[in-house]
Amino acid sequence: MGITGRGKHEVLDLVGIGFGPSNLALAIALDEHGASAPQHPVTSHFFERQPAFGWHRNMLLPSTTMQISFLKDLATFRNPMSRFSFVSYLHASNRLVQFVNNQDFYPTRQEFHQYLEWAAAALGDRVTYGAEVASIRPRTGPGSRTADLLEIEVRRGDGTTGTVTARNVAISTGLVPRLPKGVTSGPRVWHSSEFLGRFGAQTPADLRHVAVVGAGQSAAEITRFLHDSLPHAQVSAVIPSYGYSIADDTPFANQVFDPGAVDEYYYGTQRARDAFWRYHGNTNYSVVDADVIRDLYRRSYDEEVRGGRRLHFRNLTRVVEVEGSASGAWVMLRSLLDDRREELAVDALVFATGYDGMDPARLLGDFDRHFQRDAAGRHRLERDYRLVSASGLTCGVYLQGGTEHSHGLSSSLLSNTAVRSGEIADSIVMRRTRQELGRSRSVAESPSAA
Ligand SMILES: Cc1cc2nc3c(=O)[nH]c(=O)nc-3n(C[C@H](O)[C@H](O)[C@H](O)COP(=O)(O)OP(=O)(O)OC[C@H]3O[C@@H](n4cnc5c(N)ncnc54)[C@H](O)[C@@H]3O)c2cc1C
Repeated sequence: MGITGRGKHEVLDLVGIGFGPSNLALAIALDEHGASAPQHPVTSHFFERQPAFGWHRNMLLPSTTMQISFLKDLATFRNPMSRFSFVSYLHASNRLVQFVNNQDFYPTRQEFHQYLEWAAAALGDRVTYGAEVASIRPRTGPGSRTADLLEIEVRRGDGTTGTVTARNVAISTGLVPRLPKGVTSGPRVWHSSEFLGRFGAQTPADLRHVAVVGAGQSAAEITRFLHDSLPHAQVSAVIPSYGYSIADDTPFANQVFDPGAVDEYYYGTQRARDAFWRYHGNTNYSVVDADVIRDLYRRSYDEEVRGGRRLHFRNLTRVVEVEGSASGAWVMLRSLLDDRREELAVDALVFATGYDGMDPARLLGDFDRHFQRDAAGRHRLERDYRLVSASGLTCGVYLQGGTEHSHGLSSSLLSNTAVRSGEIADSIVMRRTRQELGRSRSVAESPSAA
């Protein structure tokens, strides 16, 4: 048996790389396609390097809420009847009535995580956890003139490897944590993506002064969390802007995340695409929810009234040098106002400095040269999220994430996950049907068939 638990020589229609919300939504879309076409289901398997399902576990801070409506779940926008909707999950958990009484569109991240785990558990036979995809190679199958298959090399936690063959892959390996140049994480210097794990390993009394760098949602949430969890500690927020900026989630602006906006972005002129970012980047990027901003400001004001300040905001300030040690970090800050430098010695330093988009080239390696790039060096994509081949490949490499330049602002977010996954599932089914028709036609037209 192969690494999927299936026959070693089986060719799957799809291998999904990563099993976060995007590929989980794709697994659901394929499952629902299979239910409606049981005679010819799409065969698929997913590989996830984490030992169990987990969605940004290190940022599941208490009381933090989702930045999308619960209706933008894994399935509802594609199929409101789906058994994998958030409403179905609430019903199965006996909390539907209470949830409605809350009168809130935005569940906590803890609850949404439970929902995702619930959905992932129902599809447990489609995924292998603790399995990292190491490489993808093209292969030309028997009777084909172009590379129509992909060999996916999978490495298990115990160091063993195996190879799976598929006609398509969906790469959805997620955002890549970004630290400022020259900074590496260590025992007391952390990126926000490792926050709770690192924080939980400390003795709180040892953290007497902590600092958080960044001006986005994660930075503000971690600052608030540290202020709550370390009542004895000084908490410094190092902010490159003048203060946190508000995330625009008002209805007109929110339309940039509508499924229809993907077409407008994809088929739009470069001028239109630039306008999306210029006018609406503040719906998601380097911005903070209003309630978190107000909460932090109120805390700071209260401390001023009471005369015991331990929450400090260093605005228009950048980190220029960091030296981490086993027990803390030394930081050199520079004020953008007057270039003044200030040294800070802290017991822990958190960089909530964001993420880079997913880059499939890391996984594709040498195979990447088979795909077209635009003048700016970015991958060219079909509307169905498939990389545009430069060499007539008939296998498909789909991306979920890393398509901001072609498909717009929602590419790495949850807003459009259900619809995008449905479009990818439809594309896989349609291309398979076309290829099968092509094959049966060429058999019928071959001289030996006469
Ligand atoms: C703290 C935080 C909160 C967020 N909140 C929201 C929100 O409220 N609303 C919203 O729309 N967006 C939010 N986002 C954006 C986020 O990108 C999406 O929520 C979501 O995680 C995208 O899902 P994904 O499956 O594409 O990527 P991910 O969730 O990152 O999943 C990718 C998976 O791939 C696995 N993987 C990586 N490489 C390999 C490999 N080589 N082999 C096998 N597996 C691999 C990873 O372990 C991971 O599980 C948030 C992001 C963060 C960091």
